[in-house]
Amino acid sequence: MAVFDQKKIKLDFPILNKENAFGKLTYLDNAATTQKPVQVIECIKDFYENYNANVHRSIHDLAESSTTLYEKARQNVAKFINALPEEIVFTKGTTEGINFIASAWASKNIFSGDHIVLTQVEHHSNLLPWQRIAKENGAILKFIKLNTKTFTLELEDLNEIINSKTKLIAITHSSNVLGDVWNNQLEKVIKCAHSVGAKVLLDSAQTACRKKIDIKKINPNFLVFSGHKMLGPTGIGVLFIKKDLHDHIKPYQLGGSMVDFVSWSEYKCRQAPIKFEAGTPPIAQAIGLSCAIDYINEKIDFEQLKKHEASLCSLLIDSLHKIDGVKILGNISRLQKNGHLVSFVVDKIHAHDLGAYLSNKGIAVRSGHHCAQPLAKILNIEASLRVSFYVYNTSQDIEFFLKTLQEGIEFFRG
Ligand code: PMP
Repeated sequence: MAVFDQKKIKLDFPILNKENAFGKLTYLDNAATTQKPVQVIECIKDFYENYNANVHRSIHDLAESSTTLYEKARQNVAKFINALPEEIVFTKGTTEGINFIASAWASKNIFSGDHIVLTQVEHHSNLLPWQRIAKENGAILKFIKLNTKTFTLELEDLNEIINSKTKLIAITHSSNVLGDVWNNQLEKVIKCAHSVGAKVLLDSAQTACRKKIDIKKINPNFLVFSGHKMLGPTGIGVLFIKKDLHDHIKPYQLGGSMVDFVSWSEYKCRQAPIKFEAGTPPIAQAIGLSCAIDYINEKIDFEQLKKHEASLCSLLIDSLHKIDGVKILGNISRLQKNGHLVSFVVDKIHAHDLGAYLSNKGIAVRSGHHCAQPLAKILNIEASLRVSFYVYNTSQDIEFFLKTLQEGIEFFRG
């Protein structure tokens, strides 16, 4: 069982401990990317210093070692989400995983008149690839609506939205703007999709670092997440493809390493997952991600993390409520129970202005539409500020943020 010692954990993150012009960095932009512990940084350095070689090719010792480390990383990721190693495909990130499925599976299996079901809170990564499939193949996009008062998805007419025409539902596990929008109804939606024979793609970019993902329980056909949002390096992502689909999905890309046999006119692919990983894969990054998973397993208990992040959300929300002209986006009681981020707008002050003001004082938050422009439109806003937490954040971070935000508001209001 992992032990949770958040103050001690913070010491593992070099970027959070060094002094800058403004003192130490207050990092509250974890939904965009997380910081890296020294263990992950050292692991990547160790790989380049001692093991660097291409994988699945040469037979020299170094190549054997690097291939072993790479495949161990795959096994570690598989164990982390209770999948089989061959069901894990390494990608560049969540975005590439979704584009992979759109191009390699959906473009060949979704046709004119078929429906693709999304929600109104999707990140652009889980919207644009489906818009293109819809345009190119004549499919129709259907959206599960967001109730903009309760910030919960409307599932009353689920059996109408998900019907015999539905071929895919591609949905977020948790919104990068609003947090949890499912209110314990996700399983029901996945079951409903399977009952009509539709495939399910789950975007777990915001959840892999904080929720136990048990593939066997959740039962998606595809699931995607990014290493950099869970203490790992950039340039690595995970695409889970359920084994029964391996033979029905063509390779996303073609090239070296993924073939058994090639002539001038044809080729024969190797077994999955290698057939899905053409060219030199992100080797050091996969090994770095595996190290991040070891770190999480060893030091972070997800139940305690949930309580910790929710208590930070509560503290922030209580104080934001007292500031004139602040409107919080998201279901307050859910954010206080299991939130990991708080998005809000301040009347008459642009989020970018406040974001820049905070940055000048050493505070990193996100401002903008958070790669969810259509969602911003239905929320009737142009941009918002988003404060997002992870394991190393403290109540002092929030106190400093709030004090500086108030100063910023006074500055802009004159
Ligand atoms: N989906 C969600 C819910 C996200 O939060 C993000 C990252 N903000 C993505 C997809 C895209 O992830 P990446 O940029 O790592 O590919």
